[in-house]
Amino acid sequence: MIPSDALGGQAPLEPLNLGWARKAGVELALLRLDLLDPLISGNKAFKLSGYLAQRAARQAPGLISLGGAHSNHLHALAAAGHRCGFRTVGLVRGEPATTPTVKDVLAFGMRLHWLSYGEYRARYQLAFWERWQAEYPGFVHVPEGGESLLGALGCVPLVRHVVAQLAPLGWDDFDGWWLAAGTGTTAAGLVIGEAGRRQVHMALAGPERHGVGKRIAALLAQHGQADQGYRLVPACRHGFGQSDPELLSFMAMTEQETGVALEPVYTAKALMALRQSIEAAEFAPGTRLVVVHTGGLQGRRAAVTPVVE
Ligand SMILES: *Cc1c(COP(=O)(O)O)cnc(C)c1O
Repeated sequence: MIPSDALGGQAPLEPLNLGWARKAGVELALLRLDLLDPLISGNKAFKLSGYLAQRAARQAPGLISLGGAHSNHLHALAAAGHRCGFRTVGLVRGEPATTPTVKDVLAFGMRLHWLSYGEYRARYQLAFWERWQAEYPGFVHVPEGGESLLGALGCVPLVRHVVAQLAPLGWDDFDGWWLAAGTGTTAAGLVIGEAGRRQVHMALAGPERHGVGKRIAALLAQHGQADQGYRLVPACRHGFGQSDPELLSFMAMTEQETGVALEPVYTAKALMALRQSIEAAEFAPGTRLVVVHTGGLQGRRAAVTPVVE
């Protein structure tokens, strides 16, 4: 785990005042993982924690992982390596590009290799990792997006972290979680942490046909956990990373109403899906939900998300 005194901030639980939730009598609180650290973004710090511990225990020279040229995951990994003093290698999908994310990770000292889409597709094959293990012997391999049971287990402490902050908010308890899901690893960690107590609503940032539901169920099964205690909510609109004018105007409006910065790939879509769900009266008045701000604001700088008109 990144020692908490090495992180540059905290993740407070704050009241989230939104007119459409108030109108329905639904109370919201926002877990500000975006404030955890200026560089090691949001949920990624938690997903990486098991891998950081593994690296330290094995005294491995570093961590190697993969992602795109705007990847919040690679960004957090590179920042952690820089902060804690180990080497990092990023296998990046596509043609070499100088995005703000790429500039940052290079400045953090991450070594990058650009892979064609064909090469990248081979990432689930044994030979793929044999090659990189030979090139970076002893490096701990972190799966794309930190998707693994180890990654999910790193997110389990979020439950405790929130419960410890309920009293100052004037809440004695709450009914469920609402958060954006990419691989669903973070949300699976909450499901494990809750062990059936509170429902976890996962707002999917990508289309369900990509099999995220099956992968989450498999991950929970690996932990011996039943496939329950959560619900998948379609939230991707026109597709993963696809933006549209309605989303952007919702995001601007919500930022103005709350004073909290969002980004269009995950957090804005999750909140828009929440509004829809609340307006469809899916939650009874008096329901209390903890919404997780999963961070990701570094990825917003590029503003490259294609807008679907
Ligand atoms: C990576 C990321 C997610 C998705 O997390 P999963 O654990 O893959 O579901 C959500 N929000 C933000 C801002 C992210 O960077």
